[in-house]
Amino acid sequence: MSFATLWESLLPIGRDGLSGGYRRFSWTPEDAACRAWFTRAAAERDLRVLTDNNGNLWAWWDPPGWPGPGAPGGSKAVVTGSHLDSVPDGGAFDGPLGVVSAFAAVDLLRERGFLPVRPLGIAAFSEEEGGRFGVACLGSRLLAGAIEPGRARALADTAGVTLAEAMAAAGHDPDGIGPDDGLLAAVGAYVELHIEQGRALADLGAAIAIGEQIWPHGRWRLDFTGRPDHAGTATLADRHDPMLPFAAAVLAARKAAAAHGARATVGKVTAEPGAVNAVSARVSAWLDARGPDERTLQTVVGEVLAAAREAAAGHGVQLAAGPESVTPAVVFDQDLRERLASSLAEQGIPAPLLPTGAGHDAGVLAARVPTAMLFVRNPTGVSHSPAEHAEPADCAAGVRALATVLEDLACR
Ligand SMILES: [Zn+2]
Repeated sequence: MSFATLWESLLPIGRDGLSGGYRRFSWTPEDAACRAWFTRAAAERDLRVLTDNNGNLWAWWDPPGWPGPGAPGGSKAVVTGSHLDSVPDGGAFDGPLGVVSAFAAVDLLRERGFLPVRPLGIAAFSEEEGGRFGVACLGSRLLAGAIEPGRARALADTAGVTLAEAMAAAGHDPDGIGPDDGLLAAVGAYVELHIEQGRALADLGAAIAIGEQIWPHGRWRLDFTGRPDHAGTATLADRHDPMLPFAAAVLAARKAAAAHGARATVGKVTAEPGAVNAVSARVSAWLDARGPDERTLQTVVGEVLAAAREAAAGHGVQLAAGPESVTPAVVFDQDLRERLASSLAEQGIPAPLLPTGAGHDAGVLAARVPTAMLFVRNPTGVSHSPAEHAEPADCAAGVRALATVLEDLACR
């Protein structure tokens, strides 16, 4: 089957020998190898490949007799795909499963004798994870005009290399980045297949789900400023230790999330000066919070910040806290979602409706194009980790489901 061949040819790229996780960061040699893999997979299928101004890759299966890109009166394209980049030490499936399944679905449609009646595109969006430059879905945000190009060019990685410099070094012109309304206007629907990043499908006993919505989510930064002191001689009563209200905030996050059916995580913290034998001067922490609706999200964050403020005041510590980014809920296009549901039901493919707490390019593009998502079962629910997994039978089910949907949307 074409899925296994494609999958295995992509697997070695960017895999870290020690952790077994992936380090596929945008505009690096590993990224170039992923791009070459995409171009080869497209060429093997006689698909027309192009890289857009923002570095996103597109492979086009044009309908017979189609007049070409930009021709007046041409019908709008159906696009599927995902991303090839990874978080640091990420799993093999997050992103690549959608791209590999897209090529495999094209193969399956051809085996079944289908031809598109409108252009069918496969996209691989650049820097989806924000693993190098810190802004998630950067390629789709630039395409959709959801981030200012000047701000994007100035984003820097941990070594101080800017996006503009990294793009230029990889042979891509950074001056051309920004919204591409013409390209988006030619897309009538975007369907992204993705590994599930939770365990809902395993619990439901189904291989495939249809995405319902992406939870609203955001990042808040908390800076606790106290007074540096000696760990041995400063009496407990005299201290202004910022680590203590920080700890209270972490516990409050867990408690608030549990109380409201949400998620709250402190995954990044820095302590200054960071000495073992000293009370810290400052502790900075980042809270990631997500909830089923915006009110719940605000309630959770409100409770965490209130607990942090109270604990800071109790320890004579200053607290500065505020949002770094907040993304509202994305509800996927209802008509498209229902069309997916009925075409899968016709083929006897069970596909429950699932919300997700994870962001995706489909969420960014939803502001401009009708979008939908398909999720493939992940037995443990673990994601952004080498333990991320999908069984071969479920991957095959994903390809069949995607081909069914594409046949309905692009071949009739
Ligand atoms: Zn992803």
